Amino acid sequence: MLNSRIPGRNFLFVPGPTNLPDRIVRAMSVASEDHRSPTFPDLVKPLFPGLKKVFGTEKGHAFIFPASGTGGWEAAITNTLSPGDKVLAQRFGQFSHLWIDLCKRHGLEVVVQEREWGTGNDPELIEETLKADKNHEIKAVLATHNETATGVTSDIAAVRRAMDNAKHPALLFVDGVSSVASLEFKMDEWGVDVIVSGSQKGFMLPAGLLLMAASQKAVDAGKSNSGRRAYFEFRDMIAQNANGYFPYTPSVPLLYGLKESLSILFEEGLDQVYKRHHHLAEGCRAAVAAWGLKCCAKEPKWNSDTVTAIVVPEGYDAAKVIETAYKRYNLALGAGLSEVAGKVFRIGHLGDLNELMLLGAIAGAEMAMLDNGIKVTPGSGVAAAQAVYRANPMLKM
Ligand code: PLP
Repeated sequence: MLNSRIPGRNFLFVPGPTNLPDRIVRAMSVASEDHRSPTFPDLVKPLFPGLKKVFGTEKGHAFIFPASGTGGWEAAITNTLSPGDKVLAQRFGQFSHLWIDLCKRHGLEVVVQEREWGTGNDPELIEETLKADKNHEIKAVLATHNETATGVTSDIAAVRRAMDNAKHPALLFVDGVSSVASLEFKMDEWGVDVIVSGSQKGFMLPAGLLLMAASQKAVDAGKSNSGRRAYFEFRDMIAQNANGYFPYTPSVPLLYGLKESLSILFEEGLDQVYKRHHHLAEGCRAAVAAWGLKCCAKEPKWNSDTVTAIVVPEGYDAAKVIETAYKRYNLALGAGLSEVAGKVFRIGHLGDLNELMLLGAIAGAEMAMLDNGIKVTPGSGVAAAQAVYRANPMLKM
């Protein structure tokens, strides 16, 4: 138990869970209700067209499972593949690694291509590998749209082009846990078969809902594969959802929260949501440059608009910066994971966020670095971000 109250709000700048808008908190404050009542479908049914819009699909099926993003990795593979099937995955961060690990635990044969952390998917290598797979043994390509561990965004349209150039029939599975509802996602246009996301990032909700979508091709693959699943069976969900119900007990408050989340996203407009995330991220990157530090993303083309991973100078421990930020300034920064533990700290800039909120986090990170002896010029990061924000207002007046 804390022995003293910390006044003011905690500055939550991990890349998920993100801030809950007050509107969502209020929307979730509901009494329990019967999830088999005749009126329950009035709440449930409109959620699917809303989700499909965010995923960029008209043809696909949207799903709401009571789970988190990790469950979506499992749902994707068990609904479509059989143990022993080959999948192709490139590893360049902790989340692409964990999906590979989950596939192996399910008995899939993973063709793993190592990429430097700080880079993302290499479509040319994917194309070359698929062209060489003359017998079409590779059944799916796994791609992490936004690698949250390193702050790297990959070009999913380019991955699809690579697959098409190779004339390969593999399914395309995408992890969009830290991209969907913050970065543009076009499931149909990019020919994505399964897109996995979660409630606690761009959707501005608590964790607890696995939000995903699957193409008809992916759903049909479940008729003949031998992957074991029960809880995550797409076809059970589709059948029940068609009537506005679920095969098991849903979290009713989270569904009210999702309804509000979709309203908030559409009120702002998805295009503006994406522009805002880019704008906020540009300020954060300007701060990093002004500190004389580097992003973990190796080149600007990899920069993520939802999270920036900042490399601390050699000889300093990023974990100490994170600890100071938390204990001294009530600011939660994201930790470096696995290979980059102690080397980077992360500022999440996604969800319900504006310029002044992010400037607060940049100021806090700057102070925590100074407190740990990292020689950045006081105020330099904040000033650089302010200049970006003043030059290019996020909202039209
Ligand atoms: N994929 C990415 C890119 C993530 O950032 C995360 C979590 O941060 C996950 C998957 C795992 O999602 P969850 O923690 O919701 O299971």
